[in-house]
Amino acid sequence: MTPFPLYPTTSLAAMACTAVELIELKRDGRPLPAAGIEWLIAAYTDGLVPDYQMAAMAMAIVLNGLDAEELAAWTNAMLNSGDILDFSNVPFAKIDKHSTGGVGDKISIPLAPLVASCGVAVPMMSGRGLGHTGGTLDKLESIPGFTTRIDKERFGAILGEHNLVLAGQSDTMVPADRKLYALRGSTGTVPSIPLIASSIMSKKLAEGLDGLLLDVKTGSGAFMQDMASARELARTMVGIGSSSDVETVALITAMDQPLGREVGNANEIRESVEVLRGAGPDDVTELVFTFGEVMLDLAGIDDGRERLQEAIDTGAGLQKLREVAAAHGGDPAVLEDTSLLPQAPHQATIEAGEGGYVTRCDALVIGLAATRIGAGREQMEDEVDHGVGITVHAKIGDRVSAGDPLATVRYRDESRWVAQRDDLASAWTVETARPTVGDLVVERIDRTQI
Ligand code: URA
Repeated sequence: MTPFPLYPTTSLAAMACTAVELIELKRDGRPLPAAGIEWLIAAYTDGLVPDYQMAAMAMAIVLNGLDAEELAAWTNAMLNSGDILDFSNVPFAKIDKHSTGGVGDKISIPLAPLVASCGVAVPMMSGRGLGHTGGTLDKLESIPGFTTRIDKERFGAILGEHNLVLAGQSDTMVPADRKLYALRGSTGTVPSIPLIASSIMSKKLAEGLDGLLLDVKTGSGAFMQDMASARELARTMVGIGSSSDVETVALITAMDQPLGREVGNANEIRESVEVLRGAGPDDVTELVFTFGEVMLDLAGIDDGRERLQEAIDTGAGLQKLREVAAAHGGDPAVLEDTSLLPQAPHQATIEAGEGGYVTRCDALVIGLAATRIGAGREQMEDEVDHGVGITVHAKIGDRVSAGDPLATVRYRDESRWVAQRDDLASAWTVETARPTVGDLVVERIDRTQI
């Protein structure tokens, strides 16, 4: 094998050849040299390694994994693909939260402003929808005018002024992940522990954090569906955070059914506002309190639950979201009157065929249907339709009669909806025996357990 040429002095032809050699190494289950990883990520970020070669590499990693040394090199190369932010001048602890991705998982949207209004700085760099899961950035962009693509100066300015910024990677902030994340979503290369861990941790380590809470999903709607792989992902990320001196806690949480009642971008902003008004669904509210308490604890602030409740009661959390939306160019009026959010013109209902208890409300099936009617992307360049979505009326443990609505669907394109109708209806199972509903938070992993 030829030695890795020093980027960026290599010719394009030589780079392509080296990319093939690296892909072949990983395809054959052999470790990638750190210098090769650094080169590959830098050249991909600069557009010199094309998407098709990176997609082949991502698939080889899905199949053959990365060992601990390769993972450290891959995460560092992603982190160093752009600016690493320094907020040492911000006089508050800097704590963030990130989810591995779920269906109806809008937790960050009410959580971040509540925590920020309790005296913690939250520099949140989020992702877009990936596969069947929604993304915080797509949800925020259903607020008219809201821009999540800002440069690092604006990122720092919004954080300094409001204690909260809600953005995505820019050309200078973890640009490697911005490209690779979009590519993975449309090439079947999402469910890989090293790719998820490096994607999340490179973004989080670039934020200059003091502490990090990771929400690792398990269940049908999660990328890591079984508990053993969710645990391994959690431990991998806590390990990366701890070795970079960022106090990192992971909570493994259930994702068998959607969180809350709303799935889809504007739908989830609407439900987030309900949570901030103290009228949200129990599961979303409970996770917001549990996560908020851990984030405040990471910041050294006691009595988290009481403080978060106060931020809801006084309206401080909702006011914070309004201010930050305006700072991002968004129209804060839609957070006052959520009927102004985008809404697709047509509506259809899925009804229960028989009476009994809902024993299954499958997050994966519902997430896929939402994606395919336009709430997510099937291909990298697809536009998201912020106004389509699914309102889930019946969740596990609920009692329904024949003919009761299980879900209401908002859609724009009749043929896309018709193609999903039967699949969506198959998401529910109704039986006579009442099921036991499992815990939302299944396990906690921190640096003492790795
Ligand atoms: N969230 C991310 O930021 N990256 C992934 O790969 C999966 C979820």
